[in-house]
Amino acid sequence: MQNILEFHEVDYAYHSMDGEVPALENINFTVGEEEFLVIVGPSGCGKSTLLDLIFGLLQPEHGSVIGDPDAVGYMLQKDHLFGWRTIEKNILLGLEIQHRLTPDTRAYATELLKKYGLYEFRKKRPSELSGGMRQRAALIRTLVTRPQLLLLDEPFSALDYQTRLNVADDIGSIIRSEKKSAILVTHDLSEAISMGDRILILSARPGTVIRTIDLAFNPALSSIERRETDAFKQYFSELWKEMNQLVP
Ligand code: ADP
Ligand code: MG
Repeated sequence: MQNILEFHEVDYAYHSMDGEVPALENINFTVGEEEFLVIVGPSGCGKSTLLDLIFGLLQPEHGSVIGDPDAVGYMLQKDHLFGWRTIEKNILLGLEIQHRLTPDTRAYATELLKKYGLYEFRKKRPSELSGGMRQRAALIRTLVTRPQLLLLDEPFSALDYQTRLNVADDIGSIIRSEKKSAILVTHDLSEAISMGDRILILSARPGTVIRTIDLAFNPALSSIERRETDAFKQYFSELWKEMNQLVP
């Protein structure tokens, strides 16, 4: 498996009038093709900073981030669909901004709309769709730019519990069937175990990698099916213990 992202001894600190705020310290990890990495850690430990380094919004102060920022797509906490635009126009927005709206890319957008059941809703406004459908539209908007690596920063936190389980399952299976790599940041340990191939645990600020846990589930299981296995419970208690040690 080829790596599409590598962090080597990365440090990052924010500088302000009051001095320096170290956010990340000696971060090392890799993400391979089609790999799904989940990052968990206490709030303020530098998770969003880490994603900004991958996206090329920030540069490391020490060490190196090896990857192609142009091959990265970002999916945010809220779906950020524009209410006055139809679903189709929302989905084409990223391409328009990047001046990449061609007959080819438009055909790919239509293909994705059809494949993931949004084609018949393409003329609707976001408010006419369920929360789950809106998240799916937001994912398709990211996919049409053909990223290799998707960054998901707490993408389901605005959803109620029941919807959240279904949407996570849905989004996870689309990412896998499109053969993308992904990095998901979440506070939800069950979500981390149900969706990832590997979990990276960060310490409190400045964030360092405390441990990685490889998740060995049968690849045929959906994230909801994973939750029903014994392995899931074992991973949960392992992760729970690890996280509890981080809280002073
Ligand atoms: P997380 O996403 O894990 O909650 P962040 O990456 O957003 O954490 O932030 C890491 C730390 O850096 C936090 O303590 C935060 O207060 C600090 N921080 C974030 N952005 C800035 C900034 N622009 N200037 C100074 N400090 C910042
Ligand atoms: Mg954050």
